[in-house]
Amino acid sequence: MNLEQNFQSFLSEQAYAVVKAVSQIASDLGQPVFLVGGAVRDLLLGRMSHDLDFVTEGSGLALAQTICEALDGSLTTHERFGTAVWTPPAQLFPNTVDVITARKEIYKTPAALPEVTPSNMQDDLFRRDFTINGMAIRLGGPQHGELLDLYHGQRDLEKKLIRVFHQQSFQDDPTRTFRAARYAGRLGFALADGTKQALINSLNEIKLLSADRVRHELEKTMAEPLPMPMLEILEDLGILKAVDANLVWSDTQRIALAHLDGLLSLELGQSAAKEVSKTYLRLTTWLTNLPQSEETALSITNCLNVSADIRRDIEKVLKVLDASKTLEDLRPGTIEKLLRGLSAAQLTLLQANQQLPKEIKTLIPTYFNRWRLIKTSTDGNTLRQLNLPPGPSYQKILDHLLAAKLNGEINSDSEENEQLTHLVQNIMTENKKSAS
Ligand code: ATP
Ligand code: MG
Repeated sequence: MNLEQNFQSFLSEQAYAVVKAVSQIASDLGQPVFLVGGAVRDLLLGRMSHDLDFVTEGSGLALAQTICEALDGSLTTHERFGTAVWTPPAQLFPNTVDVITARKEIYKTPAALPEVTPSNMQDDLFRRDFTINGMAIRLGGPQHGELLDLYHGQRDLEKKLIRVFHQQSFQDDPTRTFRAARYAGRLGFALADGTKQALINSLNEIKLLSADRVRHELEKTMAEPLPMPMLEILEDLGILKAVDANLVWSDTQRIALAHLDGLLSLELGQSAAKEVSKTYLRLTTWLTNLPQSEETALSITNCLNVSADIRRDIEKVLKVLDASKTLEDLRPGTIEKLLRGLSAAQLTLLQANQQLPKEIKTLIPTYFNRWRLIKTSTDGNTLRQLNLPPGPSYQKILDHLLAAKLNGEINSDSEENEQLTHLVQNIMTENKKSAS
């Protein structure tokens, strides 16, 4: 099967230019070079691919250097693994490109890094996660464009099946459990019977993954255009539970995530998306919608080693949820105090939260657009000039005035001054009383 036609149809113009240039280099070197992995899968599926991975039987580092010299850009190399990451000039191709030596991998213990030795394409394809990702296309030379499908990847693509190469695969690298759910969800594929059983048999090994690796897999899931089917599969296969008993995906979390995605097209959501990524907001929405006490939230943030920013946002959201339970009224002044200081991202997380009462949620955009911007004319300086001794009474007075202004009880500077005089007098009198 020759796929040169597919290059033209399903690679972006930029990716095609890179593939053509690499093919020419491969021909010139007389070295076997292949396009592998996701790009091949997507080409066969007729989907646009954004990733390019090249493998060579021979020195991957030398090939990467030749590519970089010919096409410019920069190179990061890992001598030990025979891998290089080429960053092409942005105008040529916007993503990084992997260039590696074909290799064999041996996993001595589950979830640890494998022992790597240079090898041929047969071994290099066999070390991969699934048969649909284990195909290659030869570049350059007389067989240019030919599909190398040694393990029935194309058959599995047609049957819509995710299949591992061997029964040990998930134990070797438990991140493949997450990857299986991702491809199944993204492509609407099923796990082949033996693969499903192998995955279930290796759920215990998920605990051996570092928190960072698990989080990275979940972030990749959340970065997908449609993460929900994948999360459902992660739940159904018991992968989430294997990470932490409190990490669940049920109706509450699904509704919250759908709600979040809707919010991102509105004004507040758009401000939030300028502060943090969509992936960040989705992940944090999930974590703040788990059936949790503060302890379970903490256990999950630990087992995913989330960033200090996510931790802080989770804490803020939990705090507001807690305070909302004893809120006395829904007047603007009360809502302003509840939400004061929260970022657009934190406000969006609250809007997507399934525990926060609807009456409060609907006021969040008004807080963000109007109430947040209203200030009193009085500030700390004004209070000092009135000879009020600095202390907690400052915040009390300022809060009181702001609430009164927001609630429409103060409508002008002179009314504010009147209230202020009254408040200061009261405090002075109290101070005198407690001093005597
Ligand atoms: P995507 O479209 O999600 O980027 P991809 O197939 O390009 O899918 P990558 O994570 O970019 O996936 O990895 C590139 C290729 O490297 C895969 O197609 C697969 O062949 C191989 N690979 C990646 N991760 C693993 C893994 N954990 N175990 C085995 N092979 C892997
Ligand atoms: Mg990829």
